[in-house]
Amino acid sequence: MTCRIITTSGDTMLKKFLVSFVVINILWTAYVLAANYVGNANTKKFHYPNCSSVREMNPNNRVEINSREEAIAQGYVPCKRCKP
Ligand SMILES: [Zn+2]
Repeated sequence: MTCRIITTSGDTMLKKFLVSFVVINILWTAYVLAANYVGNANTKKFHYPNCSSVREMNPNNRVEINSREEAIAQGYVPCKRCKP
């Protein structure tokens, strides 16, 4: 068992490198997606796009918001459900 770990350590290093590469890509994608928020013009609340409130929202009240700062500057408050 110990011997096997030693002989495969190089391979493990490569796997760790590949795993961290994939993780960084996933985090980056998640960051890019999370950079956009959805505001409700009626309730003056803003949400993550995947919030259940966004799906229930009237499309006429739906406002695309690029950043948290932008939402707050426009008088929106963070949703209590998705906590953006
Ligand atoms: Zn929400």
